[in-house]
Order: sequence, then C-alpha cells, then structure tokens
Amino acid sequence: MEFRDLKRQYKVLEKDMEKALLDAAESGAYIMGPQVKTLEKELAEYVGVKHCLSCANGTDALTLALKAWGIGPGDAVFVPDFTFFSSAEVVSLEGATPVFVDVKEETFNIDPEDLEAAVKETIEKGIFRPRVIVAVDLFGLPAPYPEIREIADRYGLLILEDGAQGFGGSIEGKRACSFGDISTTSFFPAKPVGCYGDGGAVFTDNDEWAFLMGSYRVHGKGEFKYDNVRIGMNSRLDTIQAAVLLVKLKAFRDYELEDVNKAASRYTSLLGDKVATPVIPEGFGSSWAQYTIRLEDKGQRDALQASLKEKGIPSMVYYPKPMHLQTAFSGNDGNRPCPRATSLSERVLSLPIHPYITEEEILEVVSGVLDSLR
Ligand SMILES: *Cc1c(COP(=O)(O)O)cnc(C)c1O
Repeated sequence: MEFRDLKRQYKVLEKDMEKALLDAAESGAYIMGPQVKTLEKELAEYVGVKHCLSCANGTDALTLALKAWGIGPGDAVFVPDFTFFSSAEVVSLEGATPVFVDVKEETFNIDPEDLEAAVKETIEKGIFRPRVIVAVDLFGLPAPYPEIREIADRYGLLILEDGAQGFGGSIEGKRACSFGDISTTSFFPAKPVGCYGDGGAVFTDNDEWAFLMGSYRVHGKGEFKYDNVRIGMNSRLDTIQAAVLLVKLKAFRDYELEDVNKAASRYTSLLGDKVATPVIPEGFGSSWAQYTIRLEDKGQRDALQASLKEKGIPSMVYYPKPMHLQTAFSGNDGNRPCPRATSLSERVLSLPIHPYITEEEILEVVSGVLDSLR
C-alpha cells in the first residue's frame, strides 16, 4: 500500500496527461508558455481572488509575499509552532524574527488566544515590531480566520495564509487561499494538488502587492526583462508543470476533493470511538492533505507505527519536532514554550489517504490500527 498513491492517479489521468506533457514539449515555450497564464487564471477563479501568480515552489511563494511587504530585520512574524519548517524558515531568511505560537489540540491549527498573548508579549518587550501573522492551513483544514482577522485588525497586522496544504479547503463556502491579505500554496507532488516536480503560487486581491510579487519573481524586473529595479529571485513555474497542473486541477474539481472527503469520513466513522480522529469545526471544509490521529502518548504512537509497518501499512509522523525545538531555531528570539505543539509532536500519526484509496485499503488500515490498540 502507498501512503499517497500518485502512480494510481497517473494511471487514471494517463491519456490527458500524456497529451499535456507532449504538447508542452513540442511547443518549445518552456518558460512562461501559454499554459502558465491559463493556469493562473483558472486558479484565481477557483479560489475567488483577483490575482494569482505561479512560482517555483511553496517556500518561494511565502518569500515573495514577505518581500512585497518589505518584511526584514526588526520585524516580528507570528508563526504556529506546529507546521512544516518553511512557514518559519522564510521569516528568518528575510532577517525578521519568527515568534512561535501554540496550536489547538483538536485542529492542529494556530490558537487565537495564544496568538494574542504572543502579540502582547512582543509589544511589551518592545524589541521587535509586530507585522505579520503566518496562518497555516495544516493537513488541509483552514486556520480559524474569523478570529485571526479580528486580532490582525486590532493590532494592525497583515495575514499571510500558508495554504501549502490547504488548497481546496473552505470556510462557509469561501475557498482556502483567499483568507490572507496574501495567500500561498505549494504544488509539491504530495500536496492536495501536486505537479511532477516543484511548483507554487501566490494569491491576492491587492493590485500593488501582485505587481511587486510579479517583479520579485523575475529578478526584480522593471519596465522590461533587462531593466532590473529591485533585487529579486528566479522563481517561475515551468510551462510543463503548468500543463500537468491544468489536468490535475480539473480532476481535483471534478471528483478528487469529494472522493478524499469520502475516504476521511470512512476513517472517522470506523475509528472515531476508539481513537482521537481529526476535528473539522462547523462550517469548515478540509482538503485532507493528511488524515492525522492523536494517540495517548509517544509510547503508544511509536508502537502503533511499528505494528502498522510490520503489516506493510505506511504511516508518517507529521511533525516530529515543534519549531521552537528545531536546531536551526536554537537561540531564536521568538521562541516561546508551546506545550500543546510539543505534546502533539509526540502523539500524532498520519494514515494513508488520497482520492484513489479503496474501501479495502481503508478497512485494512483500520483493522491494523484497532489490532494494535487492543
Ligand atoms: C509543503 C509546505 C510548504 C513548502 O512548500 P514547497 O513547495 O515544498 O516549498 C510550506 N508550508 C507548509 C505548511 C507546507 O506543508
């Protein structure tokens, strides 16, 4: 069994995919070909924002946003302690200081109460200027944006939605990647919508920020390609990846998002009274980048993972270390104790899930989990 069966997906999409790949290869327009513009238009429409710009990966997408806002030394950026490294790495790379915020036990997402506490602490200390909240849509579930927006407004902060795992999620019908002042996503192969390599995108309704990110994406270009007005990056999405994504986005909209939600519901109904399953708050929709259960302690989690492995069932620990305990952040001024993130890193386990998982595979995983817990 595969953790996320991308080969099975390829088999289903094979005919359309072969055509898309060959067309891109034959066209000769390998950089910024017409597929890139078409994809950006379709992504913006799907998400419901004015501007979408594709780029090289989800990490660059976050960097482009921080550059457009001029975030740098002396600035504090609030980041959940329980996330993939990129969400905080980009902050330090720009010379700003990530201030870590604890998450909620049930949703794995940033805790608005601890967020406000972290903002107040930062203001009281008076060393770093609060500027941005990075809100991560972890495992496919949008962060609690209504509460985050209130805090952002109260303290004059910008919201950067890290939707690398969140694409396809929703709150009251409004789609993920539309909740930030700027939002980002990743098309890394294992994300809800992935390409055949690296890819990413930024989303915003703001004309000026879109313009600036467009410039930073291509070496800080000005009036034309060889007029360089700011220090930028080389962060374009390849034409061939855009071609792949046009096929994948169609499948995602037509049935994949629905099917992965069905798989998640099956897991929850079969496991829900035996183990702590993911909680989706009322009005929220997830795109199920991961299906993550919570065990009692590290011993039980590690024993379960070993027992599944023996049965040939893959599982993953997302994430084994909270940000403030990462070696790269030792000595970071924004480290705060985040007991829930720390505890979750010892107790979580992600099970195989994707739109093409079969009922038999789900039953096999479930009986593997129940056997081990018995
Ligand atoms: C994957 C991921 C990223 C980075 O995306 P890449 O395309 O791999 O650079 C950023 N944030 C989160 C939460 C992610 O899961």
